Amino acid sequence: MQLYLNGFQTDEPEIPRPPERQRTGRASTPLPDSVDVLIVGCGPAGLTLAAQMAAFPDISTCIVEQKSGPLKWGQADGVACRTVEMFNAFGFAEQVLKESHWVNETSFWTPDKAHPETIVRSGRIQDTEAGLSEFPHVLLSQARIHDFYLEAMRNAPVPIEPSYARRLVDLQIDNAADHPVTAIFERLDPGHQGEVETVRARYAAGCDGAHSTVRKLLRRELRGDSADQFWGVMDILAVTDFPDIRLKVLIRSAEDGNLLIIPREGGYLVRLYIELESLSRRGKISRNSVTLDQLLAAAQRILRPHALEAKQVPWWSVYEIGQRLCDKFDDVPEEEIGRRLPCVFIAGDACHTHSPKAGLGMNVSMQDSFNLGWKLAAVLRGRCTPALLHTYSAERQAIANELIEFDREWVGVLSAPVKTTADAEGVDPATIQDYFVRHGRYTAGTATLYRPSVITGAATHQDLAKGLVIGMRFHSAPVVQLADAKPVHLGHAVTADGRWRLFAFAGAEDPTGPRSAIRALADFLAGSDSSPVRKYTPPGQDIDSVFDVRAVFQQGHRELTLERMPPFLLPRKGRLGLIDYEKMFCADPAEDIFDLRGIDRKRGCIVLVRPDQYVAHVLPLDAHAALSGFFDGFMMRESVRPPLALQQA
Ligand code: FAD
Repeated sequence: MQLYLNGFQTDEPEIPRPPERQRTGRASTPLPDSVDVLIVGCGPAGLTLAAQMAAFPDISTCIVEQKSGPLKWGQADGVACRTVEMFNAFGFAEQVLKESHWVNETSFWTPDKAHPETIVRSGRIQDTEAGLSEFPHVLLSQARIHDFYLEAMRNAPVPIEPSYARRLVDLQIDNAADHPVTAIFERLDPGHQGEVETVRARYAAGCDGAHSTVRKLLRRELRGDSADQFWGVMDILAVTDFPDIRLKVLIRSAEDGNLLIIPREGGYLVRLYIELESLSRRGKISRNSVTLDQLLAAAQRILRPHALEAKQVPWWSVYEIGQRLCDKFDDVPEEEIGRRLPCVFIAGDACHTHSPKAGLGMNVSMQDSFNLGWKLAAVLRGRCTPALLHTYSAERQAIANELIEFDREWVGVLSAPVKTTADAEGVDPATIQDYFVRHGRYTAGTATLYRPSVITGAATHQDLAKGLVIGMRFHSAPVVQLADAKPVHLGHAVTADGRWRLFAFAGAEDPTGPRSAIRALADFLAGSDSSPVRKYTPPGQDIDSVFDVRAVFQQGHRELTLERMPPFLLPRKGRLGLIDYEKMFCADPAEDIFDLRGIDRKRGCIVLVRPDQYVAHVLPLDAHAALSGFFDGFMMRESVRPPLALQQA
């Protein structure tokens, strides 16, 4: 899709001349007195959390933002493959893929050894390792991503609309109260300036960015090296003879610093990141008075011998950031974990900041909230013990720490002087390229690995599914739906609805046989008193409302007889008791999931997937007691009910 040929515009880019839409949000409606979840900040972290909470109509959520309306342009733009997987769970990946620029290749430019004041291409590689995800790495304005979340919130069963023009000024916690958090907001909208509103909440999330008020009120600090990164960034409609302008490009110049070229959506727009640290050290630019002309001149110097003419600069900014991290992402001090439950959380830039070089900031922020959202919902709905909430800080702080280490190392590699001759000091261009390739999984967001915990099992049976690593995101693969032969991606069954998935991969035997392991598992889940499905599914709800069980067979879809399958895999649901035909799949002969993900063909296995798409456990098909035991560790046990009404399809 080509966009912005005659100049940049915000709003729906697909509409050539959008109507003059009001981009100010709701400010006049008073804030509610009390809510279940209060979210401070409408950045990517806050909006991900709000969109997740919007999936649960029985939970009241309020999201508050100090700005007068939605973000219009600028800020981050890199969307990692893993983030697109998450967008798919929220239902807007297709729109993102349609509008965004796909980063397929990255090129590297370094000083020309014969003429070091000019640059030459030193390499060109595939951007993301083949097979890492079914989705590409894409680039799209942060403002558009906000729009998609806002749309998802509006379309939810109980729509959520942000309350703009309110600044959080105070937050108090009384752990003995039913609504332990009291938040004070000051109104900023004309006619109401200075008015104060109070909201009581069961839980609050500070998604209020790097200068987070919530973090400060919790007396937590962002710590890190003081060596801040100093960047100029501009979105530009330009004419240039630089041949790689539609590729992602890393340029190391000999004397004028580094330039990162990020082609943007629409075919014409380009983002330039200009590293100003070295220019400032050499006195070529002053930290406090950077102008757009200086940024353009710096970019033009780095690109020599190529010319760059700016036709329009819709957005530019100077962006200073260090790699900083909070030691804990909630209100409970480490030493009180056993005695207190968390009720205030911080997410995104509020608890970790990254350089823009690896494109981590926005992506990691959204993953924080995706991790937190389902846990809050599970606790508020009485499905899981509140102690589950401790795992948010434990999991996400460790990941943020790891990513900051990576970011620091990457910045170090990129900032070191470049070797211009064989005997000169500095980093060899090939080393930079090699580092980029080796660490591609971090930038793609797929390297996240949660350590064993109450919700992440031990690797005892990992050999049954070597490619579905416990603690890592469920790596999707194609399958064929048994009932209608439709090719689908198995991982796309994991939508952001707070449910757990139990994928049962059948062994080599005939699954329709009376003693097959799949039938035994289905009978256990449907009928046993210790079945997690029976114990934890609330009465009157669909059988898959907490655990969505799906089976994958090795046979072709024409070789299996649907009517001989266990009735548990053809459940009757909804007000009319209709049959769900989308619980069974077969391997796709062209891309066999058993081969792609290293699943044991003889024994099969169960793969448990969390509501945020991470593999929680891998177990043998007959490990019924271990399966129950795993969920008993954190789910709220209810009295054993009579067998669920499973009717034969
Ligand atoms: P934010 O996006 O910062 O959102 C926090 C929200 O909370 C804001 O909307 C803020 O107004 C609101 N808020 C703050 N305090 C209060 C309060 N007291 N009461 C109510 N609301 C409050 N990353 C890149 O990779 N590349 C870039 O070029 C880039 N440029 C950036 C430019 C700017 C000016 C900024 C601020 C950030 C930039 N980033 C960039 C970083 C990237 O945007 C962040 O990593 C990402 O937005 C983090 O998301 P977040 O939701 O945690 O925080």
